[in-house]
Amino acid sequence: MSMEYVSYFRPGIDAMSGYTPGEQPKLESMLKLNTNESPYPPSPGVQRAMAEFDAARLRFYPDPVASDICTALASGFHLPSGCVIAGNGSDDILNLVIRCFCDSERPVAIPDVTYSLYPVLASLQGAGCIRIPLDEDFQLPEDIVERAGNANLLMIPRPSAPAGNSFLRERMAEICRSFRGIVLIDEAYADFASDNCVDFVREMPNVIVARTFSKSRSLAGLRFGYAFAHPAIIAGLMKMKDSYNVSSLAQHLALASLRDEAYFQDCIAKIKLAREMLFLGLLDLGFRVIESEANFLFASPPDGDAERYFHRLREKHVIVRYFPGARTGKFVRISIGTPRQMSELFILTRQMYGSPLRDL
Ligand SMILES: *Cc1c(COP(=O)(O)O)cnc(C)c1O
Repeated sequence: MSMEYVSYFRPGIDAMSGYTPGEQPKLESMLKLNTNESPYPPSPGVQRAMAEFDAARLRFYPDPVASDICTALASGFHLPSGCVIAGNGSDDILNLVIRCFCDSERPVAIPDVTYSLYPVLASLQGAGCIRIPLDEDFQLPEDIVERAGNANLLMIPRPSAPAGNSFLRERMAEICRSFRGIVLIDEAYADFASDNCVDFVREMPNVIVARTFSKSRSLAGLRFGYAFAHPAIIAGLMKMKDSYNVSSLAQHLALASLRDEAYFQDCIAKIKLAREMLFLGLLDLGFRVIESEANFLFASPPDGDAERYFHRLREKHVIVRYFPGARTGKFVRISIGTPRQMSELFILTRQMYGSPLRDL
């Protein structure tokens, strides 16, 4: 357009760049291993519930607090239903939390590196962001609480992103006990891990545990996430949320997914097994691979040139995620797919890095 434009935005918005979501390629032929979606379809119960959903219901507003699904989620963890809030994906929850607890005087503290949405949400809120470096093995530093300084919120993904490792539960409990603000534990990948921190909510009023149906329940496109916390925290978050932040279809299908426990467990078991197979395979080719409790591996090729590996895979129509930067630039993040997809990736990788002798 040719008319002259002078920005109307708050200076903070002009100064920041927005979040960059992982690419969603249009080509069906691509092997898409870049955004940690499930390789399996949503459960048969979800597909049935969708087919049977009466479109006439869409003329009504949804239940503003998603009571049915929240009650089901709470009882699954033996918590009172006042301890749950539902969101339009867990990104919605993260956004609510930053807006409730952070502003120009109340910074957020996050690990460096971490889920790249956190600092974007902080900028949007005009809140400072204290970055706490992880160590060489992507573990939390001993003095994390001191380093968090005057932050009012500390956000920790567990299992971690983008490295996929976990942090000791006891260490997490210690951090939650000694930090004087809110600790948000982002459990987007907890269903792939050996334990979780949901029970902290029972003992500690400053802990929020955020979760999602996007990864382990194959519902990234539906947008459903939730959080557990003390009822007073939940009540405060409720004030901030959009009145109707979860559509009636999302509420209905999330509930259907929850009822298909066996299917869910089966998908998770398959993904964990494929993860262990690929882990061993990549180690064997000389990769450095971080031990993962998530549905992805963070892996560095033998020559450390992850960018080249990323591009070479792409030429073969395999998309993984590459994060440039000092801490991440030697790694790619590979979402775990089906066993067949993993062997496709592995065969390509072996062609690139395998020694010919080894194959004899
Ligand atoms: C994928 C992801 C989320 C959120 O996903 P939603 O689709 O918004 O529920 C949150 N945190 C981390 C660390 C993630 O990787």
